[in-house]
Amino acid sequence: MYDCTIVGGQIITPNGPIFADLALSGDSIAAIGHGLNGERVIDASGCYVIPGGVDPHVHLQLALGGLVSTDSFSSGTIAAACGGTTTIVDFADPQPGQSMGDALAARRAEADGQVAVDYGLHMTIPTWHGQSAERLAEVPAMLAAGCATFKLYQAYARMELDDVALHRSMAAVAKAGGRVVLHSETGPLLDHLRAEAVAAGHIGAIWHERTRPACLEATAIHRAAEIAHLTGCPVHIFHVGCAEGVVEIVTAKSRGVAITGESCPHYLLLTADKHLGGPDGNLYICAPPLRSAADQSALWRALADGGLDLISTDHCPWTRSEKAQRSFAQVPGGVPGIESRLSLLHHFGVNRGHISLARWVELCATAPARLMGLPRKGILLPGYDGDVVIFDPKREKTISTDTLHEAADWTPFAGMTVTGWPRTVLLRGRVIVADEEYIGAAGDGEFIKRSVKCE
Ligand code: MN
Repeated sequence: MYDCTIVGGQIITPNGPIFADLALSGDSIAAIGHGLNGERVIDASGCYVIPGGVDPHVHLQLALGGLVSTDSFSSGTIAAACGGTTTIVDFADPQPGQSMGDALAARRAEADGQVAVDYGLHMTIPTWHGQSAERLAEVPAMLAAGCATFKLYQAYARMELDDVALHRSMAAVAKAGGRVVLHSETGPLLDHLRAEAVAAGHIGAIWHERTRPACLEATAIHRAAEIAHLTGCPVHIFHVGCAEGVVEIVTAKSRGVAITGESCPHYLLLTADKHLGGPDGNLYICAPPLRSAADQSALWRALADGGLDLISTDHCPWTRSEKAQRSFAQVPGGVPGIESRLSLLHHFGVNRGHISLARWVELCATAPARLMGLPRKGILLPGYDGDVVIFDPKREKTISTDTLHEAADWTPFAGMTVTGWPRTVLLRGRVIVADEEYIGAAGDGEFIKRSVKCE
């Protein structure tokens, strides 16, 4: 007798859907088969049974220029849970003069006991640490502490690494056996273009996109791929939104660079036109910026054929009033999306014929777990964590802040009607969402020590 069985559903395996029951014992998956008996039986008739989503790129309670992003570790992870995501990876950002170890301890103190789902942390290597080999000496200790991935930036003051610092940092990460996750835009030139636009008196939101051209995303990816290759460091490109960026990733893959890439729902479903026509244009400011319909087609193709590897949200919410700045150059960047990722990808990806059910699960759970070093997550097999989503593919829902658990007072996906929504969610064998209602408790989630192996 197992602790729990999930019966009558369709399990989405890497090879496609199968009709079978899933049994859980304690916090793990115990068996997949037919006629399994459980103390507790959850009926999944008519539903898909999939591994809990893994969102490898979120910013909860992020301190930025005197503001703090709208979702706390509590509200953001409850929203994640309700959307079928049972593991997130956020960031620890060392301040100038602060050690990585202190930054990790400080960030864990904010999240531990608060999170509704499991979490990990990427360790940021800001300018201050990237400047010298000495300041990178902590990298192996961070891997030992469970931070197997390091966030590097090619843009933004205080974060930006030039090519030498990028080389130095990637070499240190490669030597320690970690992976780099990268914000790839040619920062110094973007700063110049923005300053020119501001000096010319431009304030409209569309100037955000006009001063961050796609070619400067692509050139940054190109340089990063070369440096990754030189140093032998696996690199994952965050938030790819343009066709030019996809081309660079695919080309680098074809010549053997250990490079992967992700996109996000907002790049797939929104275009830069959102910046035009009214005061709401500022809401959609994020970096890299939203692009065009042609870019969206290239992203969908790459998600289907392996050019891109996974879907994250880059969830970074701000309120309407925080976004309502006079000039595009003053708007905090980022959009919310942590709760709707699985459903948006199911509706606009699977239902519209861009990707298969198996690929949907791979993009939202299996690949992010593998690349971010979560060996017990992202797939339904005996021995893996009992992180399970019972997903109702017929449930129709119009996305609205009235029903989302995200804290922001707006969502870029408002008014979109999707078919398919998570019904019940289990975290390590425990039901935390039952019939779309959150029933978990703060601290259900744990910090997961991650380790990645270089390919
Ligand atoms: Mn981000």
